[in-house]
Parts: sequence; structure tokens; C-alpha cells
Amino acid sequence: MVSQRLIQDFLKQQLLLYGNELYLSSSRKLDVIDKVENSNLISDDKNLDSLNEYEKSISTCDECSLNQTRTKFVFGVGDPNADLLLVGEAPGENEDQKGEPFVGRAGKLLDDILRAINKKRGDGVFITNVLKWRPPNDRDPLPSEIGHCELHLGHEIALIQPKLIVALGRIAGKTLLSIDSPLEDMRGEIHDYKGTPLIITYHPAVLLRNPDFKSPTWTDFKRIRDYLN
Ligand code: URA
Repeated sequence: MVSQRLIQDFLKQQLLLYGNELYLSSSRKLDVIDKVENSNLISDDKNLDSLNEYEKSISTCDECSLNQTRTKFVFGVGDPNADLLLVGEAPGENEDQKGEPFVGRAGKLLDDILRAINKKRGDGVFITNVLKWRPPNDRDPLPSEIGHCELHLGHEIALIQPKLIVALGRIAGKTLLSIDSPLEDMRGEIHDYKGTPLIITYHPAVLLRNPDFKSPTWTDFKRIRDYLN
């Protein structure tokens, strides 16, 4: 007997793959549902579904004034079952246009750093920001904006349940630790975010401006690689 929950999961999966069209003959439908039941697709999709639903539920958030100046809402992207969750500060101009985190120069550098530890976005890695809207002229996020958005970040983390969180830069670090310290004081140790280990390192945009920080960042990412292995 096929349960209602299973049919709902199946239809959600179809919706993700094919949109509103349903492309199955009635004789194949139950067969496919059986295969879905016996595969691990359901648990994978549950995380993806929950993230998609959560994204949708907050995508028109107007708790702060950033929704009046932004172009696109920028939710996290990547593997919904990631071991490694990277948290940046806020979308910049490119991200605001595309609706995806870290797609500009800093994002390319981040991809290079990930490649150096045999990781890539979307495969065991999820990338998000503290803020989901771009602040005007890329100014620092206001405490009130962080206050609203950190609830959403907490929800994303709870859904993904990564093995390790990496905060990129001071804003992400201080938000996750709930303290206001210089980045240098937060670097170099493994902190705890509600039971999940947290490492704080330099933001890739800072590395573009000051290559001297590349060496300590590499030290941090070797630690990240070793921790995940
Ligand atoms: N800087 C960030 O902190 N996040 C982005 O998505 C892009 C640049």
C-alpha cells in the first residue's frame, strides 16, 4: 500500500525535476514510487525540499529596509546534505544580480581555495551568507539587519546539519559566536556553534586586497581539510 506521504514526496520530486508537468503513464507511476521508496532519494530530497520551502517562505521578507534596495534575494546554494557549510557576510553586486552567493571575484577565489582541498561547491559543500540581501553600496551590515537574518542562517544550519561550519570573515564569525571581537582573536581555534564545530578564517575579498593573508588562510583551510578527513 503506497502511503499519502510517499505520494507527496514523489510529486515534490517530480515538481523539482520537471516543473508542473507530470510525465508518467499510470502503469509506471506506482513502479517508480516503489523505487523511490527503496532508494535514499527521499531523505536527500527531504533536506532539499525543506531548504526550498524555507527559502520560499523568507524570499519576500521585509523585516528590514534592504528589500527596498536589493535586486535579488540571495539564499544559500549547494549540497543540502553538505559536511562543510561556508558562511560569508552578505551578497555583493554580482550576487545581487544573479541571486547566488559568491559568484564574483571573491567567489572565484573561494572556488580555487576549495579545489585546493579537493572540495567543490555543490558537492559536500553548502555556501551561504549572514545576510540574504545586498546592503546598499556594500556597506557593513547593520546590527538590526544581522539580528533579523541570523535567525534564517540558524534555520539553514539546522536543516543542513553540517559536520563543520566555516565563517568567512569577521562579520560571519562574530554573528555565529555572538561576540564582537577582531578576526585575529577568533582565528586559530575550533569554536562551537550550538554543538557544531566552527572555524573562523579570512574573507576571500580580504585576500584579494591583501595577499599577505593568503598564507594564514591556507593554514586554516589545511586544518579544515584535515578535520573533514
Ligand atoms: N561576499 C560575501 O560575503 N558574500 C558573497 O556572496 C559575496 C561576496
